[in-house]
Amino acid sequence: MTNSLFDNTKTAFKLKSDSELERAYFLFKMISIEPLVKIGTAATKLALNLHLPVEGLIRSTVFDHFCGGVSEKDCMNVVEDLYKVGVYSVLDYSVEGKEEETQFDATMDKIIELIEFSDDKKSMPFSVFKPTGLGRFKIWQKLTENEKLTEDEKEQWQRIQKRYDLICRLAKKKNITLLIDGEESWMQDSADDLCQQMMEKYNKEEPIVFNTLQCYRWDRLDYLKEQHRIAKEKGYKLGFKVVRGAYMEKENDRAEKKGYETPICESKKATDDNYNKVVTYILDNLDDITLFLGTHNEASTYLTMKIMQQKGLEKNDSRIWFGQLYGMSDNISFNLAQEGYNVGKYIPFGPVKDVMPYLIRRAEENTSVAGQTSRELTLIKKEKKRRKLK
Ligand SMILES: Cc1cc2nc3c(=O)[nH]c(=O)nc-3n(C[C@H](O)[C@H](O)[C@H](O)COP(=O)(O)OP(=O)(O)OC[C@H]3O[C@@H](n4cnc5c(N)ncnc54)[C@H](O)[C@@H]3O)c2cc1C
Repeated sequence: MTNSLFDNTKTAFKLKSDSELERAYFLFKMISIEPLVKIGTAATKLALNLHLPVEGLIRSTVFDHFCGGVSEKDCMNVVEDLYKVGVYSVLDYSVEGKEEETQFDATMDKIIELIEFSDDKKSMPFSVFKPTGLGRFKIWQKLTENEKLTEDEKEQWQRIQKRYDLICRLAKKKNITLLIDGEESWMQDSADDLCQQMMEKYNKEEPIVFNTLQCYRWDRLDYLKEQHRIAKEKGYKLGFKVVRGAYMEKENDRAEKKGYETPICESKKATDDNYNKVVTYILDNLDDITLFLGTHNEASTYLTMKIMQQKGLEKNDSRIWFGQLYGMSDNISFNLAQEGYNVGKYIPFGPVKDVMPYLIRRAEENTSVAGQTSRELTLIKKEKKRRKLK
């Protein structure tokens, strides 16, 4: 294992044709310019709201780069290509911001359909969903903030619990690992509690249900330790996707506006340290906890590889998975897979308009300010040079 593993661009971009590489270069160049992302985001939202014909443009640029398609069937070419190079797929129905009960039922049906769809496919051992995909944000928030629910809200809450249970039960039956996303801290406690109940019910033998730990929150190591204590006491397995967290600005802004202590670590370094501590804790307790490392951070990935080596663990130990998002950090995904590690790529899909919040988050985290773009651009430039493209 050397520090240059992730610099191997031949492996990183082996699925990209020359023209796809050029498109990626153009795209990352564009979204590296922060004002352009801000203006582009506002203009796109407006254009979609006004029903202007911009879907084609979005599809052929950001959408096709970061998403597998508008339906799961659309994604199958990508899934098969990834599987050929040893990368598993995590199809992510990325429709967000819904508020109606019928829409939550439709999302549940979609997740169930996806679990059934994944059943006989070795390339797709995971399913994923967001708590707010199955119930109104307000309900999660009220429960998190210990506010009383109205009679109608109580019924909505019961329906959310039912949706969770149906999905988790089917995942257990089909042996599909279920990754539940982490969201804003002011609704997350109730989602954590419900996930804990599902783990207690369905993770008795194997970790089927996974929660997410967002390590930009300084309280997550203590939370993990407490979850570990409870799981040991009650006799069930834990599964955690470990990420840094995608809602930092929103979290800090809200805390400042409302005058409470921010749940976010005081610096990037503090988040990195917290992330690495959480990962190390899990690696020290693999008999009880399974790890899905959701990150594009090379240092945390190397650290995990190093600890695995020190502990004499197999590269493909079934309790350790590395995950990146489709369209990002292929240099990590494909080089890890080539070395024999377990890698899952999140592939978002859904109607263009509905995946816009997801695409906007990706564009924002890839501006020059956030820092990831320069790495992507450097790698693409290196590969263009290797292929002797202009
Ligand atoms: C497979 C996968 C699944 C994911 N699922 C989720 C999910 O369920 N929920 C979710 O919220 N996110 C999720 N994410 C997104 C993730 O949380 C990060 O936004 C993204 O991956 C960037 O973090 P990084 O670890 O790749 O590395 P880096 O690029 O090294 O870290 C960037 C992150 O560090 C943190 N950070 C940056 N600056 C500061 C600062 N000044 N102070 C404190 N912290 C700072 C922020 O979290 C920022 O996103 C997922 C990512 C992947 C790859």
